Amino acid sequence: MLCSICHHEMHSFCDTKTAICYFVCDNCDFLCKSAEHHQDLNTQKARYALHQNDENDRGYQAYFQRFLDFVLPLVGKPESALDFGCGASTLLAKMLEENGIPCDYFDPLFHPQNTLENKKYQLIVSTEVFEHLHQPKAVFEVLLNGLDAGGYLALQTQFHPNDIKAFLGWYYHQDPTHISFFTVKTFSVLCEAFGCEVLGDNQKNIVLIRKKN
Ligand SMILES: [Zn+2]
Repeated sequence: MLCSICHHEMHSFCDTKTAICYFVCDNCDFLCKSAEHHQDLNTQKARYALHQNDENDRGYQAYFQRFLDFVLPLVGKPESALDFGCGASTLLAKMLEENGIPCDYFDPLFHPQNTLENKKYQLIVSTEVFEHLHQPKAVFEVLLNGLDAGGYLALQTQFHPNDIKAFLGWYYHQDPTHISFFTVKTFSVLCEAFGCEVLGDNQKNIVLIRKKN
């Protein structure tokens, strides 16, 4: 199978405990579950309904605060932002607004208004979204097209350990809705393809990308 990010040949390995097979690209580190384990939207929605993220929960606020603490010092003062794939909650958008950054939000299941159709943003954030995507390259391109020149794209998804044995023991792929996994290198390769640059990452789960002028 060819890598959907960079078109190099991928190789596969299987988890003998779950009988789930994966493909990995040595060129860009993209790693994905084989297609029969991809779920349709209704199955995913049922699963997400179980994620009861309480907006008043201090742990949930602290979780987004860690994301903002990494991103905000690097992006100046954007005048417009979008939280793409927010899920049911609009907490992150509210927290950006509290930082003086007007923020729209979009989610295909819970808030499906067409925010990206006729508007461009200076900052797009997307947390815990890319691991759910069947077509991450296509979505990456849509998000870049939704940015002003010089705009920022801040993504949060757990970077995989880039080692098959460590990967098999990793919790993150055990969620059945998680199908795509990345490292910073994967995002660097995507940036090369679309004329943008990786500005920074936290070596764990956050990468900040800038669209060139
Ligand atoms: Zn690749």
